[in-house]
Parts: sequence; C-alpha cells; structure tokens
Amino acid sequence: MINNYSAGGDIEAWCTKCKLELSHTIVAMVEDSPKKVKCNTCNGQHNYRLKPSEKTRTKSKNPARKTKLQKTSYNEYVSRLTGADLSIAKKYSIKGNFEQDEIIDHSKFGIGIVLSIIQSNKIKILFEDGPKLLIQNNESGTAG
Ligand SMILES: [Zn+2]
Repeated sequence: MINNYSAGGDIEAWCTKCKLELSHTIVAMVEDSPKKVKCNTCNGQHNYRLKPSEKTRTKSKNPARKTKLQKTSYNEYVSRLTGADLSIAKKYSIKGNFEQDEIIDHSKFGIGIVLSIIQSNKIKILFEDGPKLLIQNNESGTAG
C-alpha cells in the first residue's frame, strides 16, 4: 500500500475541536503515517485520527435487528391492550363473528385484538407474537 502523505500536505482527518471530518494540513509524519495535523478550519493542532474514538461504538454488538419487526408489533400490541378490560375478551372460534378492535382470547395464541376485517370470514388479529390471519364465520363444519 502506497500513500503520498507528507508534511505540509492536505489530509482528511477528524478534528477533535470541530468534531467534524475536515481537511487538515499534515504537520508531522511518523514513518509513513501522519502523526500531527492542523485543522484548516479552526487552525488547531492535534494528533491525527481518522474517525471519532471507536471505543464507544464497539461495545454494542447486539444482533437485535431481525427482531425489530416483531418488536414493533409487540409494542403496538402492548399499547393497544394497555388499559383494556381483558375480562371481556371473547373466546376465539372459527364460527365466531368478530369486530374490529374486539379483544379475543385464543386457546393457543392468547389474548389478541382484531386489527382488521379482511373479508367477512377472514380477520387479522394482533397477538403478542405478531399479527395473524384467522378465520371467522365458518359454518362449513356442520352444513355444506
Ligand atoms: Zn478544527
């Protein structure tokens, strides 16, 4: 790797005073690397550094990205059900007839709230795990 840095030359560097990446003039070199630079903006001299201190950044390496969508649903779930009277939750059944914003109690998914009526026999319910599509008004079990 070849670089053309030399004292007196310009270089993009992090200014510790301006707290910005700005063009600096190289004041002193150590071997092939700039050691000391002068900010062209504030004329302050400081040690050369390319970026703000990375120590503060490397700490957080939590891979929480893929759960973001789920978390959004969960937050909505919590806010929708906060203050709601869960004792009025209707037992879910495929033969049931539910309305928007109705609180339902599903044997497997738990407490949920009806987000929307997709079709007369299909509803979208938000559970703690996220939204799910469920059937309603299904009478085909008994009649054809
Ligand atoms: Zn500066």
